[in-house]
Amino acid sequence: MKRQVLVAGAALLAATGGLLAPSAANAGQRPTSGSGPATTVPTTVHPATKVPVMTGGGGAVSSVDETATQVGIDVLRRGGNAADAAVAAAATLGVTEPFSSGIGGGGFLVYYDAKHRRVQAVDGRETAPRSFTSTTFTDGQGKALDFNTVVNSGLSVGVPGTPALWDTVARRWGTRSFADLMKPAQQVAEQGFVVDATFHQQVADNATRFAKFPATAALYLKGGQPPATGATFRNPDMAKAYGELRAHGVRSLYQGTLGAALLAASQHPRTSDGSTVYPGQLTARDLASYRALLRTPTSTSYRGLDVRGMPVASSGGIAVGESLNLLEAYDRQTHQSISDVDEAQYLHRFSEATATAFADRNRWIGSVPGVPTRELTSQGFANERACALFSPTAAATRPLPFGNPDGSYSCSHPAASQPAARDDHGTTHLTVADKWGNVASYTLTIEQTGGSAITVPGWGFLLNNELTDFNFVPLTAGVPDPNLPGSSKRPRSSMSPTIVTLHGRPVLALGSPGGATIITTVAQVLTEYVDRGMPLVDAIAAARLSSRNGVEQAEPAIYDGPDGAALRSLGHVLSSTPEIGAATGIVIRPDGTFQAAAEPVRRGGGSAQVVRPGG
Ligand code: GLU
Repeated sequence: MKRQVLVAGAALLAATGGLLAPSAANAGQRPTSGSGPATTVPTTVHPATKVPVMTGGGGAVSSVDETATQVGIDVLRRGGNAADAAVAAAATLGVTEPFSSGIGGGGFLVYYDAKHRRVQAVDGRETAPRSFTSTTFTDGQGKALDFNTVVNSGLSVGVPGTPALWDTVARRWGTRSFADLMKPAQQVAEQGFVVDATFHQQVADNATRFAKFPATAALYLKGGQPPATGATFRNPDMAKAYGELRAHGVRSLYQGTLGAALLAASQHPRTSDGSTVYPGQLTARDLASYRALLRTPTSTSYRGLDVRGMPVASSGGIAVGESLNLLEAYDRQTHQSISDVDEAQYLHRFSEATATAFADRNRWIGSVPGVPTRELTSQGFANERACALFSPTAAATRPLPFGNPDGSYSCSHPAASQPAARDDHGTTHLTVADKWGNVASYTLTIEQTGGSAITVPGWGFLLNNELTDFNFVPLTAGVPDPNLPGSSKRPRSSMSPTIVTLHGRPVLALGSPGGATIITTVAQVLTEYVDRGMPLVDAIAAARLSSRNGVEQAEPAIYDGPDGAALRSLGHVLSSTPEIGAATGIVIRPDGTFQAAAEPVRRGGGSAQVVRPGG
């Protein structure tokens, strides 16, 4: 069934073509000395009721968690800007969403700086130890080590990038001190928060591996049981870690007390039964040389909008961009826009586009020199791929071959294909916009839900297992694999924090967790909103399909319904999955007001708020 088109692409352009968010003289930049209030971040947090959509002025925050959203809103209300609110809210997510984020992990942030009218990106991805080589995850005979054994060990732990990213963002764009921004999180860790069903379930799902590490079991499995839903959960050790960061800055993690504790925990993980796990290879030198990197976001023109995303070390910006270009190419090829086709045909096109983009992602993207970002996000390349592979009446056989982004495009039929890469889930997305027009789109993670399952003893935070995002062995023998492990290398990510601009000003920001499904979720929410006329909260709530050039997952509403049947008749091989992603986003309206949106249902529902509700 075709959904009602409320705001098709052209209408969106018209609607957002006017004056956007007001720009104050200093656009929320760091106040000059003497200006700005003395107490600028909240000292106690009273989360509002969790709602998935809110409209109004003064700034907006959307996350999966009401406490984190409240912290962000309180920072904005007290005159902080989007950078301040993003850092303070992310630190709080580290407490309330400790299995998906925190100072032991990494992430990527895309930021619109209203004063300079510029979108920039910060890469806070974890790095591998210097000692890593392309065969670190093999047994010496070229066989991949067992994935789960590596996950639950020190070998999967990369240098955390999250504290460095917060520091970079606070220094570069923020107006409040780093110590102030850590304060609400410290207090939430100290005073506690109410355990919800998701938190309880995440512990229950990971109970076996959490039980393996005594510091993790002591924190999350008191009496051998996950914390009960409705109970208050306190993490005094994590409060101490935030106190340490407030007193000594992020230097403590990269060259100080926290770093020493982290190294000990990853190098020699203590297990409950005395069994050994792979030791980590991180050294003090690895920690000390870590830097969060400023990057130029990817840029893809789509329906007259500019979609700005995360470049390498993430594949997110490129793969979302290529998917969107492919959809435009299909429109031209069929003389029919995805705004005008029925739901099944929309999903078919969407599936073909993301599968094609994944074929190219897996072949070309990784933390290696010379990734052809510009070509992969060019319309010429997408046109060639569409011409060679797309039919509106039949799904192309998986796996689709990868293309050759060489700058010279015709309609050639590429031959080589590769199997799909593995993917995982343990991440969270935060979107913030302020009254000066600054916007932060920030996805952060510790990789799997619960990361490596190793808690740093005495400091209450989990270490990531991000290094398992590398391919353990080449995807295809004889085909160069850009995502093999390497010395100080950043594993390829799928995280896709996105800011959409029109005439240079943000109109929409969004992102999602979900491992490799992040790419398809962001592309789907974006197209449901831009092309299918859905309000953002409905675009987020809509049933999802994640087609990644091998597996093609559909949520039950698609799988069990007429659209699933229609897709199968076109040749799609679907598998049913209960839930894909957990998106958040903010629409920045022409009059400077906001609509913050989050999941109504997935992951227990998200929390969207604005500073001044109404309108
Ligand atoms: N490690 C994954 C990535 O960087 C994210 C994991 C997740 O979203 O659950 O793509």
